[in-house]
Amino acid sequence: MVVTTGHDIINNAPEELLVNSELYDELEFNDVEYITKEYGQDKCPVCNFSIKPILLMVNTRFDDSFSKVIISLVYKCPRSECSELFVLYYEVDRETYQHKKLGCASIKPKHAMISDKIQEISGNFVLIYSEAIEAESLGLKNICGPGYRKALEFLIKDYLIYLHPDEEASIKRKFLGNCINDYELPPNIKEMAKRATWLANDETHYERKWGDKDLEDLKTLINIVVYWIMMEELTKEYQKSMK
Ligand SMILES: [Zn+2]
Repeated sequence: MVVTTGHDIINNAPEELLVNSELYDELEFNDVEYITKEYGQDKCPVCNFSIKPILLMVNTRFDDSFSKVIISLVYKCPRSECSELFVLYYEVDRETYQHKKLGCASIKPKHAMISDKIQEISGNFVLIYSEAIEAESLGLKNICGPGYRKALEFLIKDYLIYLHPDEEASIKRKFLGNCINDYELPPNIKEMAKRATWLANDETHYERKWGDKDLEDLKTLINIVVYWIMMEELTKEYQKSMK
């Protein structure tokens, strides 16, 4: 594990560290060093690797009561595969000079909260779905729709392969709609997966067939399918382990 000290972080900072603050005179630069040492972030909140974050910018402002200074430190993850930014928030009491960490926020949206069971059934779904969410949060509306469509296909096919491992090759070859029709699935999963597929196909077609439904409906349907798969498999697990 990489141990990060305030000194390391300051030394790690690029020459042109941006200090954006009229209040900065009120705080010694040592304060920033002290704070980073005291609360040093040694894990990237985006990629979760142990890192020595690169300090890019310090921003300070008063809180609403003018009794505290809120310090925001913008860091960059040094891993080239990640390189994401995150912000650490601290407050300093102007009377007592006591420091308190307020929190850490990554600028990149976090991966969707999806259960371990779904991860086990379809790691591909979790990955692609997270990417689609990211595309959507960046405003890439035309990209995220097909992304959700692809995520759904992996979810259903991986689930069918999970249920029928010996039929993997034929499941992979089939169209998604045929997979849903041809294999036995609990009715809730089958019915919702069908509708999710209808809407998902709309995302890749020139003309929409389901004009009164939108991306939110597609996401809701995918979430319902995820929910039913999760409930179905967890039910089986508990029935098996508690006879
Ligand atoms: Zn990172």
